[in-house]
Amino acid sequence: MAKPVILVVDDDPAVLGAIERDLRQRYRTEYRVMKSASPEEGLDTARTLAARNSQVALFLVDQRMPGMTGTELLRQVTKLHPTARRVLLTAYADTDVAIAGINEVGLDHYLMKPWDPPEQRLYPVLDDLLGEWRARVRPSFDGIRMLGSQWSPQSFEAKEFLSRNRVPYEWVDVDVDETARALAESLAGDLTHLPVVIFPDGTHLVAPNAMQLATKAGLQTQANRAFYDVIVIGGGPAGLANAVYAASEGLRTVLVESRAAGGQAGTSSLIENYLGFPGGVTGADLAQRATMQARRFGAELLTGQEVVSLRREDPYRVVVLADGTELTGYSVVITTGMSARTLQAPGIEALHGVGVYYGAAMTEAARCRGKDVCVVGGANSAGQGALFFSRYARRVTMLIRAASLQPMMSQYLVDRILATENIDVTYGVEVCAVNGDGSLESVVVKNVESGAVRTISSSAMFIFIGVQPHTDAFAGIVERDEAGFVITGADLPREHGRPRGWTLEREPLSFETSIPGVFAAGDVRANANRRVAAAVGEGSAAIYSVHRYLRTV
Ligand SMILES: Cc1cc2nc3c(=O)[nH]c(=O)nc-3n(C[C@H](O)[C@H](O)[C@H](O)COP(=O)(O)OP(=O)(O)OC[C@H]3O[C@@H](n4cnc5c(N)ncnc54)[C@H](O)[C@@H]3O)c2cc1C
Repeated sequence: MAKPVILVVDDDPAVLGAIERDLRQRYRTEYRVMKSASPEEGLDTARTLAARNSQVALFLVDQRMPGMTGTELLRQVTKLHPTARRVLLTAYADTDVAIAGINEVGLDHYLMKPWDPPEQRLYPVLDDLLGEWRARVRPSFDGIRMLGSQWSPQSFEAKEFLSRNRVPYEWVDVDVDETARALAESLAGDLTHLPVVIFPDGTHLVAPNAMQLATKAGLQTQANRAFYDVIVIGGGPAGLANAVYAASEGLRTVLVESRAAGGQAGTSSLIENYLGFPGGVTGADLAQRATMQARRFGAELLTGQEVVSLRREDPYRVVVLADGTELTGYSVVITTGMSARTLQAPGIEALHGVGVYYGAAMTEAARCRGKDVCVVGGANSAGQGALFFSRYARRVTMLIRAASLQPMMSQYLVDRILATENIDVTYGVEVCAVNGDGSLESVVVKNVESGAVRTISSSAMFIFIGVQPHTDAFAGIVERDEAGFVITGADLPREHGRPRGWTLEREPLSFETSIPGVFAAGDVRANANRRVAAAVGEGSAAIYSVHRYLRTV
């Protein structure tokens, strides 16, 4: 734990040197004594210390300095370090200013120059002030701090990114904490771009993207090798299984993940149908175990890196990342999965991330405590989401278009939902608008048969209404079906008795796309069975085809 700071500010080098020496002599074992030779430098130092979350126990500043008086400086630094004790160093002539400062800036003491002997005129006063400070102040958190607002979608994204990648951080809401607001304002200029993420080394990022956060948080974002046997795109269950099998069988393997390993499964609150876990397993736990396993076998996992394109330079396959980096290898496995389809209704876009969420946004669970929330959708993921939020919310209203839960949802979930007291199911409705000023306040639904409209008061809405594949990066490169899913193996469309555009004598292997050496597995594949176990199975099985392909290059 770093020592708290005593900061002295004086433009007179002789006075600055003398007071620093006296302070060090008495306090150096318990405090870090720092000095600044001008008010501007003092303010800068106070700002840096606040960004590093270093605690300032005491400011001791001269009243008469060019550019800014001591009282003005204290007014400014107090916004950043409200618990610090404040002492003004004055000449006899400044007594009136000092007395006024007691009220104006909450001055704790004014000290007349000279203060000799310090044992009588300096230490007793400061001992009291510092003792009082220690008794009141809690030790500060010295990890990553995120200063954000629950009304800012970028703050939500950044929180999700760090928590899903298991990076510990402290969340400080600038709408609640004045000191945090002052610090965010001083670092970002204003509060239009949030969050401000401050790292233990004192550096900060304003409204960072996934790649910037990953780099600063120490996650691997760049490949270590120049060449790979297998480049896996996407770190969901299919990609992770693929990486585990590839690396364990001695292939040089890299996996590229744009958000967090685990994919959709990683956001699941409890997976109950995965073999070998009779009590269920959280998506986060499964992702963590699989990630460790892949790394243990030597696979590299790049996080926060998005693949934007792919090209063929026979016999190599080149994968292009959003930051312009290229990865080269013999084979590629596309396991980019899919994500929730967006709901189109007035108000949704503006409130996305601030009350309206796609999937089970688990970071928001605590905020739902005691509130009323809605879950939109009637398939298994919606059912799991409703059960999860019913543990926190006062009431969960499920909004489904069908007339019953049965056709889309597994029976065990239907039974549990109907038995949960604080879940209401509203059948035969669709969302036609959402309302809220800065955050969600209500959801307007329309009965699909009668057209009757009803407004439901709700502080959060979680949407689970179907999916779209993540294949934009491969459009026009590999064959996709009408919905955009990647077609593989025997399913590839044929022309004149051969797969369309296929140049080799042999037939495409299982999981092979229309480009030899490029495979697809898991939810992204057309006709896949979209389950965790199926994705793991496909990811593992695809390696058999990769081996067969590698024998040909
Ligand atoms: C909330 C929820 C609960 C679920 N519960 C269950 C359950 O209980 N049981 C069950 O069997 N199934 C469940 N499923 C379904 C299951 O999670 C999926 O079938 C499974 O995750 C599919 O795995 P995947 O690896 O194919 O794709 P995904 O899990 O979708 O993973 C794809 C990964 O690729 C990454 N990616 C996408 N594009 C790019 C790109 N261009 N560059 C780099 N990376 C990219 C994504 O960020 C993602 O991490 C659930 C799904 C959800 C959403």
